[in-house]
Amino acid sequence: MQKIYSNSTPPEMICTPLQAHEQTIGILHLTNTETIDRNFLKNLSYQIALPLAMLHLQAELEHQTFRDSATGLWNRRFMDVSIQRIFARAKRLSHESEAQYLVGLIFCDIDHFKAYNTEFGHETGDMVLRSVAKFLLESCREDDLSCRYGGEEFVLILPDTDLKGTQIKAEKIREGVKCLPTPGNRTISLSLGVAIYPSHGAMPEEVLKAANLAMLTAKAEGRDRTLTAT
Ligand code: GH3
Ligand code: MG
Ligand code: MG
Repeated sequence: MQKIYSNSTPPEMICTPLQAHEQTIGILHLTNTETIDRNFLKNLSYQIALPLAMLHLQAELEHQTFRDSATGLWNRRFMDVSIQRIFARAKRLSHESEAQYLVGLIFCDIDHFKAYNTEFGHETGDMVLRSVAKFLLESCREDDLSCRYGGEEFVLILPDTDLKGTQIKAEKIREGVKCLPTPGNRTISLSLGVAIYPSHGAMPEEVLKAANLAMLTAKAEGRDRTLTAT
């Protein structure tokens, strides 16, 4: 038996790095280790490090597959899959109980963003996009989904939220985004469209389309406003 660490470490405690693929991914901390030898410890740390590294890799891949790399929000692919699942859950729970389960949708589009890019440059535009995305994320509950639909468009999916709650959230977001600090001190405004499952459709595509149309009507009526689908 060989003690691995010097006298400065308490004799019953061992710390050893967990290494895989030439990277340290953690520390193995063992106590009551008087009888542990160097080979056993090496094998043990290897056996733990390898699956841990696989889990890290899996999480990283998931992140790259489902997150929008520019903003960190859920991407369109994840949104398409999730919205089906969320609607299916609401439908099932409504069938199983007396209550009607609702899903709120908010379609947001930054106003005059092309002009902002033209004036301040694309990179500054990217910073503003990230700042809006961060604000959307912070405005949402844990089980809400904030998605980058594409370009300067975002979709928020709010499970178990009624029309009033969705409208209030949309207006809070519209007001809040106007307070975000921006390069050039320009006020960023949003046009937003609100729609609800099942009032505006039974299928995700129908409700999304209704929210999108409401957002386009908000644009046509002067921007910087929230409209609800008809
Ligand atoms: P509207 O009020 O009608 O929405 O006007 P808009 O200029 O925001 O809309 P338009 O559809 O004409 O242009 C969208 C702009 O968004 C053009 C494009 O350069 C910008 N944009 C889209 N994606 C990105 C991005 O990832 N980064 C930056 N910086 N700009 C982007
Ligand atoms: Mg747009
Ligand atoms: Mg726009």
